[in-house]
Amino acid sequence: MDFGRKAILCFLLHLVKRSVCSVKNIIGCRHFSALEATCRRNYWFPHSTPYRAREASRRLLCSVATESSPKQVKESEMDVPKEIFLKDYKSPAYYFDTVDLKFLLGEEKTIVASKITVFPSAEGTSSPLVLDGEDLKLISIKVDGKELKEGDYHLDSRHLTLPSPPQGKFTLEIDTEIQPQKNTSLEGLYKSSGNFCTQCEAEGFRKITFYQDRPDIMAKYTCRIEADKLLYPVLLSNGNLIEQGDLEGGKHYAVWEDPFKKPSYLFALVAGQLESRDDVFVTRSGRKVSLRIWTPAQDVPKTAHAMYSLKAAMKWDEDVFGLEYDLDLFNVVAVPDFNMGAMENKSLNIFNSKLVLASPETASDADYAAILGVIGHEYFHNWTGNRVTCRDWFQLSLKEGLTVFRDQEFSSDLGSRTVKRIADVSKLRNYQFPQDAGPMAHPVRPHSYIKMDNFYTGKFLLYF
Ligand SMILES: [Zn+2]
Repeated sequence: MDFGRKAILCFLLHLVKRSVCSVKNIIGCRHFSALEATCRRNYWFPHSTPYRAREASRRLLCSVATESSPKQVKESEMDVPKEIFLKDYKSPAYYFDTVDLKFLLGEEKTIVASKITVFPSAEGTSSPLVLDGEDLKLISIKVDGKELKEGDYHLDSRHLTLPSPPQGKFTLEIDTEIQPQKNTSLEGLYKSSGNFCTQCEAEGFRKITFYQDRPDIMAKYTCRIEADKLLYPVLLSNGNLIEQGDLEGGKHYAVWEDPFKKPSYLFALVAGQLESRDDVFVTRSGRKVSLRIWTPAQDVPKTAHAMYSLKAAMKWDEDVFGLEYDLDLFNVVAVPDFNMGAMENKSLNIFNSKLVLASPETASDADYAAILGVIGHEYFHNWTGNRVTCRDWFQLSLKEGLTVFRDQEFSSDLGSRTVKRIADVSKLRNYQFPQDAGPMAHPVRPHSYIKMDNFYTGKFLLYF
């Protein structure tokens, strides 16, 4: 019984964290129709600062609807985002088995080569294969090694469509050009303070390469990164490092392999001038896991508590939930320009520095407690979210609700359960209860959304 009540509160707290404050009750919001029209026209802007995120939260009040709007804004289909309904979910006509990515990171442009093994979900399907893609320059596309000509595919500002792909299993190779240094949306691959960094949840991977960018497409990834060795001495991606070496022209490379299938939103890449605090965790079955927390050199001394928190989280998940870490390496990156607060990419968690760094001279007890909680939260996603993931974004609250519950229990076990409970309930009362008492009240799982990012805007309330 206690668990049930806690679970409900967890879901509500999750809503505070992720602030699904953009869901509209169509009746309560009917008088906002003029505002809605503005929202629908203007919502494509970067969320590069907490201020912008808060601004986005205000401007997007009505952008996720529980019913279709009676007033449609007349704009070209290309510019008006499509409302996604839970009831319209269809399983994909094609699945991906393996995805081999190759990144040539450059100062002017980055070339992304992807090689995907595609297979139809049902034998003899004649459905087109529709790939998502935004802000990409297509260089070439090959099916089973044969380059396609312009008439063989259709390209628009958001999709690359193969109208009649081969029946049965085939290989799809796509080369694209992107410009991370000009990517101010901070979704996909972007460059900031000299480092390359990714953010793919919820729909950032489509800004890296053409892909079925949806959580029910699970594939095994390898990732080869090539870059200038002096400028980018550290090259990181998901999984285990299986190869690295030098190349001509002052370049070097690293090849990463993730043996577990994952959705594209968990893909990550980091390249830059970083240094690490290293440690080792021995799992309950006796495997040695290398732990590395990467930061700019001057911040490494401030990562001691984050490393303590990570090891405590790994041990606690074994003791309480029986969940052991499943790879040989776990990387954490903390950089000052990461806009999402924290992200649970498989084996390569990325954080904003504010959530990881602490020094005894300046950090308070609350700072230490917050680091413990957020390091734990992202680590716990390794099972609740990453290995067991969402079918679609309507299930976001399942991975987040359960993982928030786990991080609350972790913080309660390692600190004071009473103090933690008071803090959590205080957040509910201050942020969630007013929303639930007003016209913005909505179910945990909405019936539709326009842009998935809307679900995350309020995260800044907690993290910044
Ligand atoms: Zn989470």
